Amino acid sequence: MAAYDIAVLPGDGIAPEVVAEARRVLDAAGGPELRYAEHPCGAGCYLDQGDPLPESTVEACRRADAVLLGAMGLPDVRWPDGTEMRPQIDLRILLDLYAGVRPIYLHAGHHCPLKGYGAGDIDFVILRENVEGLFASMNGGVRLREETAVDTMVITRTGSERISRYAFGLALQRRAERLEGRRGERSAQVTLVDKANVFRSMAFFRQVFDEVAAGFDVDAGHAYVDAMALYLVRQPQSWDVMVTENMYGDILSDLGAGLVGGLGMAPSGDIGEEAAVFQPSHGTAPDIAGQGIANPVAAILSAAMMLRWLGDRHDDEEARSAAARIDAAVAEVLSEEGTGTPDIGGAMTTAELGKAVARAVET
Ligand code: NAD
Repeated sequence: MAAYDIAVLPGDGIAPEVVAEARRVLDAAGGPELRYAEHPCGAGCYLDQGDPLPESTVEACRRADAVLLGAMGLPDVRWPDGTEMRPQIDLRILLDLYAGVRPIYLHAGHHCPLKGYGAGDIDFVILRENVEGLFASMNGGVRLREETAVDTMVITRTGSERISRYAFGLALQRRAERLEGRRGERSAQVTLVDKANVFRSMAFFRQVFDEVAAGFDVDAGHAYVDAMALYLVRQPQSWDVMVTENMYGDILSDLGAGLVGGLGMAPSGDIGEEAAVFQPSHGTAPDIAGQGIANPVAAILSAAMMLRWLGDRHDDEEARSAAARIDAAVAEVLSEEGTGTPDIGGAMTTAELGKAVARAVET
């Protein structure tokens, strides 16, 4: 049986609460052996040690087979320039985790603020380019004479090419899952979300995307990011895989999460060639931290993504099937109206929901 070393970075606010439930469900899933090691990271770590991302934590992430992360940052803990601690973003750059994979899937009609949508009707992935775009300026923006501040959008051919290739690979994988009946009917398509009508950087991204698209037998299209904000609300059922610049993906993925029950329902994986970090899309939610009511589903589904990634990387069917069991258990538990934490209309605590999923995964 395979065994994997998992670096766990619990983080701040609600993050340790939801990570504990993700680990409970991973343990119940009975997949490959997972050897966990926790490492300090986040705003609390900065207050303790003077560094939100110690070098020893980065090294542990490099050595691990995968990283399970909670969320980092507290609004009151800031650098002198006014920005927050964001070690989770620094890690993406340090480990070159260029593909931000953010599945948006509706588990139950009552989670959706729109009328007429049921389980599985909304099922798309936002693929966020994770290491360049507007975030490439991070730590490098200019602030001049207390009058002018500049952050620059950086788009490279290499970065645009690899995220586009990843998108078409993902669309083919999702098409195969549909053919096997593991996903609802929809045609495979990749949509580049850009602002190519205004910015040269975006027109270049579109050109490179089109060059990559020509090599794949998958429908490829484009939409402007402002229009996509509208389309996601008006016709969320129409999308399969969308590729976005870093900042656009950051914003649209919160909109997407809002369609399926909120940030507590949105998992993610930050994936590179050599490493990957799995974390819920949400932040540290200081407004509900310590109350035991945070929704653990995004963290649990992120843990399932981690198992699937390990399974694909090591051709380990046991890891892939444990991931599928977790997805099925979440779907089963959430199918009952009223089941869930308060953010999705239930009255369960974080631990009660985690335990319910763990029980479902064991049966
Ligand atoms: P947030 O995601 O923490 O919270 C936004 C809203 O969603 C809040 O009302 C919160 O209560 C709710 N929410 C989030 N997760 C939830 C869950 N699991 N269950 C129920 N409700 C949930 O975003 P924010 O308030 O903008 O940021 C708070 C802190 O988190 C900031 O310091 C920010 O920098 C940080 N942050 C970190 C990450 C990360 O580590 N990946 C991402 C976003 C924000």
